[in-house]
Amino acid sequence: MDSFETDYLVIGAGTAGLAFADTLIAESDAHVTLVDRQGRPGGHWNDAYDFVRLHQPSAFYGVNSMELGQRRIDSHGLNQGLYELASGPEINAYFDQVVQQRLLPSGRVRYLPMCNHLGDGQVESLLSGQRTQFKVRRKIVNAAYMAPSVPATHRRAFTVAEGVRCVPPNALPRLWHQAGAPMPRRFVVLGGGKTAMDAAVWLLQAGAPPEALQWVVPRDSWLINRITTQPGMDFFEQSIGGQVAQMAAFAQATSIDDLFLRLEACGALLRIHRDRMPTMFHLATIAPGEVALLQGIHDVVRLGRVQALEPTCMVLQHGTVPVLPDTLFIDCTASAVEPRPVQPIFQDGQIVLQLVRLPQPAFSAALVAYVEAHFDDDKTRNRLCSTVPFPHTLADYPKAMMVNLWNQAQWGQDKALRRWVRESRLDGFGRLMASVDPQDAAKLAILDQLKPQAMAAMANLPRLVA
Ligand SMILES: Cc1cc2nc3c(=O)[nH]c(=O)nc-3n(C[C@H](O)[C@H](O)[C@H](O)COP(=O)(O)OP(=O)(O)OC[C@H]3O[C@@H](n4cnc5c(N)ncnc54)[C@H](O)[C@@H]3O)c2cc1C
Repeated sequence: MDSFETDYLVIGAGTAGLAFADTLIAESDAHVTLVDRQGRPGGHWNDAYDFVRLHQPSAFYGVNSMELGQRRIDSHGLNQGLYELASGPEINAYFDQVVQQRLLPSGRVRYLPMCNHLGDGQVESLLSGQRTQFKVRRKIVNAAYMAPSVPATHRRAFTVAEGVRCVPPNALPRLWHQAGAPMPRRFVVLGGGKTAMDAAVWLLQAGAPPEALQWVVPRDSWLINRITTQPGMDFFEQSIGGQVAQMAAFAQATSIDDLFLRLEACGALLRIHRDRMPTMFHLATIAPGEVALLQGIHDVVRLGRVQALEPTCMVLQHGTVPVLPDTLFIDCTASAVEPRPVQPIFQDGQIVLQLVRLPQPAFSAALVAYVEAHFDDDKTRNRLCSTVPFPHTLADYPKAMMVNLWNQAQWGQDKALRRWVRESRLDGFGRLMASVDPQDAAKLAILDQLKPQAMAAMANLPRLVA
């Protein structure tokens, strides 16, 4: 068995591992080895459906040292008027550039694709079977703990009878060359999350009539209104003003439902079906134009999760629905965010990357790297980086927001860390707030409200959590 030395052995070259490595080498003299069983950097984006796009503007996704996109405003389509959203291929090309043009040229990064980490610093090449034991001078970094589950690679929790056509959304743009198979005339989209919404939007925009679509929605979802995530000055009122309004909602809410209705009333959240009270919030982000399009699908099945797809019927938790001939099922049931126990980020000899700000895995990984590089002991590091628990129920959201605000307050107390956050391209709003014209009374008035409203929210959050 070969042996190698490195300071940090990073398991996973997805967004989290790359954002961590990028900031760590910028903030320290460390040597980093990145290991991934995939053949290309980018993690789950390599398995994404062709029409995937970022949920949020490209402007604050990726790694800290390299811009993604050109901060263009889309001139057409459902995201018209809003900051561009990188497509899957753009994200994959970007991460390839990050590795080839930033990380490897530093001379302090080794990248090992097609290698599996077996545990305790032992790495196995998938192609040769050769095993290498790494002597890790500082830490092993688990950058795969929050890895999402996506349709192309997940394991289905339902059965599909022989002859029934069920595909991941990846197959949709290639339907035209499925030799011998008739073109489907009816599309049943399985799943209530953002992937299902993307698949339905794609079908409708590609020419499928709304009445050809059936949508199986086990749970309705609250969605972040993308307008509130825009990083440019023209959107100051919606983004920073939106933050103020959200803090006011947290400060005034008297129950979980009341909180979500207040967040909807102030424009922070959207829902597809306004006559339904959603029970899910996975922080997916959507544009109002997409919502309007999805509202055109009237055949919505709410009988719980799919259990079996039979040639003539679909069996769900709470009932059975007939299946018409020439139906194509589109499996969008992968739970992008699987529940995993929350653990401390800094542990003895290892770092387990998790969120320190919701819902920003790229920013979180970069901030953890900064803290690792500049603070000496794990107790201090964990104080600065409390793990934000990903909300799996509506009632989880106030808890997550409480940790979010706590972390923000901790970062504000350290001058250098505060400056890093403000200047980081991964922080959507820091540079925006810092560049307000001191003569602009309207924007200053919005800024002045942010801290008091956040404090009022902090005071009410324990009641909502309880
Ligand atoms: C469709 C979609 C859109 C999204 N849009 C956004 C967005 O707009 N903004 C946002 O902030 N987030 C978004 N997300 C959330 C997304 O999950 C994160 O942005 C991020 O890509 C997750 O990266 P990761 O590095 O944690 O996981 P991954 O990308 O899954 O990377 C983990 C890597 O670890 C490797 N690995 C795991 N175990 C081992 C092992 N033992 N040995 C070697 N390698 C291993 C895997 O091969 C994989 O490459 C989106 C998610 C989806 C599914």
